[in-house]
Amino acid sequence: MSKLEHNVDLSRYNSFGFAARAENFVRVESLVQLQDAVVLARQNRWPMLVLGGGSNLVLRERVPGLVIQMGIVGRQAQPVGRDEVLVTLGAGEIWHPSLIWMLDQGYYGLENLALIPGTVGAAPMQNIGAYGVELEQGFNSLQALDTETGVLRRFSREECCFGYRDSYFKSAAPGRYIIVDVSFSLSLQPRPVLRYQVLVDELQARGIEQPHPRDLFEVVCDIRRSKLPDPVAVGNAGSFFKNPLISETHYADLQRQYPALVAYPAGKDYKLAAGWLIEQCGWKGHTRGSVGVYARQALVLVNLGTGTASELMLLADEIVQSVEARFGVTLEMEPRLYPA
Ligand SMILES: Cc1cc2nc3c(=O)[nH]c(=O)nc-3n(C[C@H](O)[C@H](O)[C@H](O)COP(=O)(O)OP(=O)(O)OC[C@H]3O[C@@H](n4cnc5c(N)ncnc54)[C@H](O)[C@@H]3O)c2cc1C
Repeated sequence: MSKLEHNVDLSRYNSFGFAARAENFVRVESLVQLQDAVVLARQNRWPMLVLGGGSNLVLRERVPGLVIQMGIVGRQAQPVGRDEVLVTLGAGEIWHPSLIWMLDQGYYGLENLALIPGTVGAAPMQNIGAYGVELEQGFNSLQALDTETGVLRRFSREECCFGYRDSYFKSAAPGRYIIVDVSFSLSLQPRPVLRYQVLVDELQARGIEQPHPRDLFEVVCDIRRSKLPDPVAVGNAGSFFKNPLISETHYADLQRQYPALVAYPAGKDYKLAAGWLIEQCGWKGHTRGSVGVYARQALVLVNLGTGTASELMLLADEIVQSVEARFGVTLEMEPRLYPA
């Protein structure tokens, strides 16, 4: 069993930098240590929170039960035929350096997901996505520990039920499974995904006509750095709200009223840019006590220093209400509030 600590300050373990305290805290670096931690929590009837990088969490001041910090690392690669490779990463590996490692090895497919903070194990939780690629596109399978039965189970892509910022683990069985490793099917041939015009424009501006995945990686990193606040400097969890999906009829109605509406077709529905809706309601750059809306991107809520989860949730509620009143669209929060 790894070291059990009590009343642990979590402010440097969550990207909002909220001053939360964990009643009990343990870091696990192997499957056995994880299994021991789960047994301990079950014996004490403690609720469990698995903590990766804390970049998609809004932590309240007191975190009851047991916080399990995921530290299982490891990287393996196995060729599959001539063009493909199966890469398996421990859940505690950090996403961005793992992506750099994949690129260095010549394993391609996930470069659009550069610079997303957090761990590999949390990435399937909400099927991380950016610039036209979602995790599921390079996903093969994962192994997760069932905290109810203590059994390690492999999940195929279908079983993970990936959706937009969603998975089986996030919405169907929240808290039940702890992901211990994730396997990816990657290409040995460069196949850059250039679905987003902003990527095409930036590559063109740099005079790159036939981009290598490494070029794409650099461009994505630069665009992200210019748009999103670095959590080290300003506490945040990236996009605070999901982009809402609405029906074609609703979209047509809104489009008539607001010709500048920013939206993208998504199957038979339309996905609205939540940042645009929030900005139209006048929230961009607005501060409320020690929390606020980022001045360069209205989708990002920030902790200005001494903010708390309660303050942030009050602001978030007001934003949701104003968007609902004006556009008839309900915004859904993306990070997890804990305890709920
Ligand atoms: C500046 C910034 C930019 C961001 N940009 C993006 C983006 O472009 N696209 C995007 O999709 N997300 C983005 N995010 C959100 C976040 O980085 C991702 O969701 C990331 O995958 C969270 O990883 P984490 O390790 O920090 O998870 P945590 O915040 O620690 O945990 C998130 C959730 O997953 C659970 N969890 C964590 N690890 C495990 C595990 N091993 N097994 C089971 N459950 C687990 C936690 O209990 C919690 O419910 C951004 C965040 C920030 C701060």
